[in-house]
Amino acid sequence: MKITIDGPSGAGKSTIAKLLAKKLNLTYLDTGTMYRAVALYLLENGYDNFEDEECLKNYLNDIDISFKDDKIYLFDRDISSDIRMEKIGMIASDISKYIPVREKLVDMQRDIAKKTDIIMDGRDTGTVVLKDADYKFYLTADVDKRAERRLNQLGVEYTTDEFNKIKNDLSTRDYNDMNRKVSPLKVADDGIIIDNTSLTIDETIKKIINIIEGKNVI
Ligand code: C5P
Repeated sequence: MKITIDGPSGAGKSTIAKLLAKKLNLTYLDTGTMYRAVALYLLENGYDNFEDEECLKNYLNDIDISFKDDKIYLFDRDISSDIRMEKIGMIASDISKYIPVREKLVDMQRDIAKKTDIIMDGRDTGTVVLKDADYKFYLTADVDKRAERRLNQLGVEYTTDEFNKIKNDLSTRDYNDMNRKVSPLKVADDGIIIDNTSLTIDETIKKIINIIEGKNVI
């Protein structure tokens, strides 16, 4: 079985996809981590010649991204925490519009999906990567709710300024992702939209499982 979950930043895609993977015994692939890994690689190597496609393509030939035990590695370095920085998310959103980056990562994602039943989440997993997926979900929520959840994950008190900053970052990333020329974030033609603004994680999972089991309506 192949399942895709796309949607804007902070809608809970990764949390939900990870739990669904356990429940349904599927491999889980968070494609966003791969864009973040490329962002970190380009940043640390001071590479910024993005407009030269041939050059960027050659440069990306050398990159080695792999997964082991729920961790992501760049060459043999565990970068699972480094890539979570907000700054890396912004750079990932920026570089994800370049064709060589997308081609490289989409190829890798399809290769991984060939070998296993899988649930993957991202921005183009249902529209581009796995067009033949059995179920394609589009998970979304109100931007205020998404900012609130993101801050709550950090587990510390936050100010209105911090809230507004996160909200602006999310909105900028959504805008970039929805408006880029190549593989923009959008609902797949056969995608199922789930707005989880007022749903808990468990309720969202239940809704998805019900759809998969054919028990329920949207
Ligand atoms: O999901 P996450 O926030 O980690 O993704 C970081 C960035 O990577 C996104 O803002 C988006 O620009 C890009 N991305 C993408 N296509 C995917 C997954 C992520 O363009 N399938």
